[in-house]
Amino acid sequence: MSQPNPPATDHALRTFSARVFLLRLASWADIAKAHPENVMAPIKLGTAARLLEDRGHRVTLVDTETGVYRRDEVVNMLRRERPDVVVVHGITTALPNLLRFGRTARELLPDALVVASGQHATARPQDFFFQGSPFDVATQVEYEEPLADLVEAHVRGAPLQSVAGLALPEPAGGFTRTPPRPLRDDLDTLPFPKHELFMREEYTVFHPTDVRGPRRWGFVMTSRGCPYPCLYCSPTLRNSYGRKMRFRSAENVTDELAYLARLGATVVHMKDDIFTIDRERTLALCDAIQRRGLRLSWTCQTRADCVDLELLKAMRAAGCCTVSYGIESGSPRILEVLRKRESVEDSLNAAAWTRAAGLHLVTFYLLGNPTETLSDMEMTLALAKRIDPDLLQVGFFTPYPGSPFYEEQYREQGESLDPDDLSHYNRVQVNFSAVPTDELMRFQRRFYREIILSPRFAARFARNRLRGLPANLGAEMRFFRLSAKFLLKSLTPGRKAAAVPS
Ligand code: SF4
Repeated sequence: MSQPNPPATDHALRTFSARVFLLRLASWADIAKAHPENVMAPIKLGTAARLLEDRGHRVTLVDTETGVYRRDEVVNMLRRERPDVVVVHGITTALPNLLRFGRTARELLPDALVVASGQHATARPQDFFFQGSPFDVATQVEYEEPLADLVEAHVRGAPLQSVAGLALPEPAGGFTRTPPRPLRDDLDTLPFPKHELFMREEYTVFHPTDVRGPRRWGFVMTSRGCPYPCLYCSPTLRNSYGRKMRFRSAENVTDELAYLARLGATVVHMKDDIFTIDRERTLALCDAIQRRGLRLSWTCQTRADCVDLELLKAMRAAGCCTVSYGIESGSPRILEVLRKRESVEDSLNAAAWTRAAGLHLVTFYLLGNPTETLSDMEMTLALAKRIDPDLLQVGFFTPYPGSPFYEEQYREQGESLDPDDLSHYNRVQVNFSAVPTDELMRFQRRFYREIILSPRFAARFARNRLRGLPANLGAEMRFFRLSAKFLLKSLTPGRKAAAVPS
């Protein structure tokens, strides 16, 4: 949609239709992977791509998390495509990369609008606005529609201040926010993400599945929001914003699942923060999936206190194969400290029901929690042994920006946080526990050792991986190579532990 007489703008655009370059940046670019990592498609960026295209803009989406784009290739693409708008998107741990690419985009394309987007841009816009910053604007909270409106305003020469849901730099330093945009209640009216962009084998979740044929992963969010106040939880760890729950209709979700099936997906990960938070709605969705005759396998994550045996059996009947739970701790005192609002008994029940329903079980634990002692951590290890998961991950308490802990207790010191080091999987950035850091690291290695090397875990692990081996040889070889690397690192005294695949 070209316009012969465009409005005069700072960026001197010649058309009302923009070329938009959406770039998701990996957290640890140019660093060899130490262990298998899930790579999930950036579906909200996919929705933004769809919204932008629906408005007549030309979109390129590049996701460096897939590992298929080297930095110089992305730079060459920017040179070649010369987009009008460059959106760099990533989480807190990607901050150094976001800043680096922002500068590159500004140098290559002095007239382009350079946008910061994603969880860190929401939690700490100030990190993007400084003397000589390459960024013109940052999106805030849910960014799909603000991004589309922002591009629209830019190409029409309208002031960016007219777009709700943005942070803008101030000439004298700092930033201001435009009026907040209410979180969208009616999620059914959002277009589906452009899933075509994400149908590639690099998008993979290493959780066990029951898929014997080729595993082609799709990603769906059926709800947004989480009303819980967990102390460590920030947008960097969550998939959605806001405490208020917002749900899509069963029909809308099954339409998207059918679309994914048509594209060739064989297994879908439901990215909801708490998939089963509304029991009746989950049952209705399972019923709709069955009535629609969808033959997809799917996985999800939820809370241990949001399941029961009947619900899990209904999920199994509707194609669910794996459920993940954030168990975090086996110490009732630490669960209180973490404001988890869950008991050890909830975790044990959920694990037993998950197994009884015929589902695979993935669990996550946290060490080094505020005030935690060695005996608290022993309780967590003992609980993990009783739960006996198919796969686990043991991380460290980390004060991510945006978490209640960061906002209430750590904001001041947080100014000195090194985002390059903010991985809760294998580093202790700041230690709030009563256990020395070396001891925490040793305990993590022991935790993995005692679970992974148990004959039952090992036998089940091998059985699960072998199930889809012939049809997924490439992915499984990568998984085994990285798992072996991880095992070597984690089990060798004196070496830094890495995260177990999750
Ligand atoms: S950890 Fe889970 S339950 Fe707790 S606040 Fe985060 S998303 Fe919600």
